[in-house]
Amino acid sequence: PDLASPDLASIVHDIAAEMRLRAERGTVADYIPALATVSPDRFGIAVIMADGTCHTAGDADEAFSIQSISKVFALTMALGAVGDALWQRVGREPSGSAFNSIVQLESEHGIPRNPFINAGAIVVSDILLGNHEPREAIGEMLRFVRALASDETIRIDETVAQGELQTGFRNIALANYMRAFGNVRHPVEKVLGLYFHQCAIAMSCRQLAAAGRYLMARGRHPESGRSVVSPRRARRINALMLTCGHYDGSGEFAFRTGLPGKSGVGGGILAIAPGVASIAVWSPGLNERGNSLLGTLALERLVEHTGWSVFDPV
Ligand code: GLN
Repeated sequence: PDLASPDLASIVHDIAAEMRLRAERGTVADYIPALATVSPDRFGIAVIMADGTCHTAGDADEAFSIQSISKVFALTMALGAVGDALWQRVGREPSGSAFNSIVQLESEHGIPRNPFINAGAIVVSDILLGNHEPREAIGEMLRFVRALASDETIRIDETVAQGELQTGFRNIALANYMRAFGNVRHPVEKVLGLYFHQCAIAMSCRQLAAAGRYLMARGRHPESGRSVVSPRRARRINALMLTCGHYDGSGEFAFRTGLPGKSGVGGGILAIAPGVASIAVWSPGLNERGNSLLGTLALERLVEHTGWSVFDPV
């Protein structure tokens, strides 16, 4: 038991118990077959505190497709590679549009609103390719995520990556459209090869919460003590998660939880209570904006019980 917060174990347990009983569970993403087969009954939660204590409940050790949550790790790597020059090619405003929307790109000359919608993440992939072949860039990304999570067992689900390629017509369109503006510079097959593989990284809640620790710890990897990003950069990534991490549902998520969070269509959410905890939840059923229905509710419950929102003074 964690002496600093003795009842956190029971809070986490009670949340999982409540979520297991809920009848309304949202709709599992079905745009690729490999995601459609996941049972909507799954629910997992993992909370890792600043001191390293970890509380889990439900299916916290079952790996799921992290999908758009990978956009956080990709952005972190790309900022490391090119620094603030990245912001000449990607904006920092909430889009108010669906995750895969193309509409704003025309009037905004191929500059995506932010790095957490598909268009923005595709530009980030283009930046990460640099002088690499997709295979090398994918390997580098996987090594980075494993190092963040201190877990060498994290893998890419190749079936999901292939399924993504076969159904990714919108992403192909987005990449080509931005290439026409010169904001995608490598061949689109290579850029999307990287993007689809990063989306297909499979992680459990425990692994995902571990990977997010640097964002709760002012950019430091708590285990090694090494700096992953500067405190300023960690603050900025958290700010983007709060304002843009749930697409056109970002305002609603912030309203309900008061936490920076990034969702994925696999039903996962990584949420950060800066200085306090890194949290991952997973429930595959999505709401109408493509964000985990019960994952959001679980985080809302956690904040109600702990007061961990960034707007509650500790
Ligand atoms: N791989 C998905 C896509 O590009 C990721 C989207 C998401 O998680 N919202 O469509």
